[in-house]
Amino acid sequence: SLSIGIVGLPNVGKSTLFNALTRNNVLAANYPFATIEPNVGVVGLPDQRLDKLAELFSSQRILPAPVSFTDIAGLVKGASKGQGKGNAFLANIRDCDAICQVVRAFSDPNVVHVDGKVSPKDDIETINTELMLADLQTIEKALPRLEKELRVRKDRAGIVAAAKAAHALLDSGTTLFAGAAKAGIDLAELRELHLMTAKPFLYVFNVDEAELHNAAFLDELRALVAPAEAVFMDAKIESELIDLSPEDAAEMLESIGQSEPGLNQLIRVGFGTLGLQTYLTAGPKEARAWTIPVGATAPEAAGVIHTDFQRGFIKAEIVAYDDLVANGSMAAAKAAGKVRMEGKEYVMSDGDVVEFRFNV
Ligand code: GDP
Repeated sequence: SLSIGIVGLPNVGKSTLFNALTRNNVLAANYPFATIEPNVGVVGLPDQRLDKLAELFSSQRILPAPVSFTDIAGLVKGASKGQGKGNAFLANIRDCDAICQVVRAFSDPNVVHVDGKVSPKDDIETINTELMLADLQTIEKALPRLEKELRVRKDRAGIVAAAKAAHALLDSGTTLFAGAAKAGIDLAELRELHLMTAKPFLYVFNVDEAELHNAAFLDELRALVAPAEAVFMDAKIESELIDLSPEDAAEMLESIGQSEPGLNQLIRVGFGTLGLQTYLTAGPKEARAWTIPVGATAPEAAGVIHTDFQRGFIKAEIVAYDDLVANGSMAAAKAAGKVRMEGKEYVMSDGDVVEFRFNV
């Protein structure tokens, strides 16, 4: 499944955040989140629509869409030149579909900063520099081979040109994620090189609780990483929330002026950076969210449940979640003409509530 890699300098709160994520069952009651490996955690995508569907259909359980996070250790200053554990972390990041960078913005003098001072801007630069250096090395290693291939394969012209342009961009200090579009670099051409800075980025700023509502402060941080998404949270509070009963957790969130845990937002934003959306199914057994790429057709969506559903696809009975809820039941939504029969060409929308018709 698609996964998000968590990176950041030592002591910024990565482990605190990762543990909070994977131990959090408030997020998605009944979801059997699994820890596959010690550094991989699968969590449920928070989705209140599922609670409502479970209520309408008297579903026995709720299954949110899974989102997988990998805690990637070892990215330190100089890592690309062999410092620390050196390049070992690179293989782990390469396997991830998006990169979540945790940045320290909390001030606690009891927590040592590796560079002696709290500076989100410098830390982001340090991490990005390591990733860019690693990408430069990858390109430099690949280019002689690609150019050799080009001599006998004209179809390699695209990747050679893109690799050269990417090298120049990285050399100027810009990540591919931030600068490729503007520089006219087609990232699809570079896919086989698995460049790290070409992956979607998102940032978690680990801030003091007191700053969570300091709009000017948060705007400053957001500006450091735009157009990438920024999520703000106090990782220490997030980890404390987990040990509380749902009632106490809600009370604590209210006391700090938050409507939900910052983790929820992180999972949602992470899911979004992967270019994914969900459609929903509901019945007496379960209310469930299924993951599909934005742009997936109805048969492709059916295939996520079972390949037989895609192969034998006939049509899909679909009602938009909002229409279903506004009418109060499937029967009422049907009577109101809100339930549609869609065929093979239909492109799914987020929140479609679906029942597939298929031949077996
Ligand atoms: P990692 O090295 O990035 O995995 O960092 P850890 O999660 O191990 O955190 C390093 C230290 O910072 C630990 O002592 C944490 O308790 C502390 N810490 C983590 N997040 C916060 C935070 O939001 N506020 C404060 N004050 N301390 C934090």
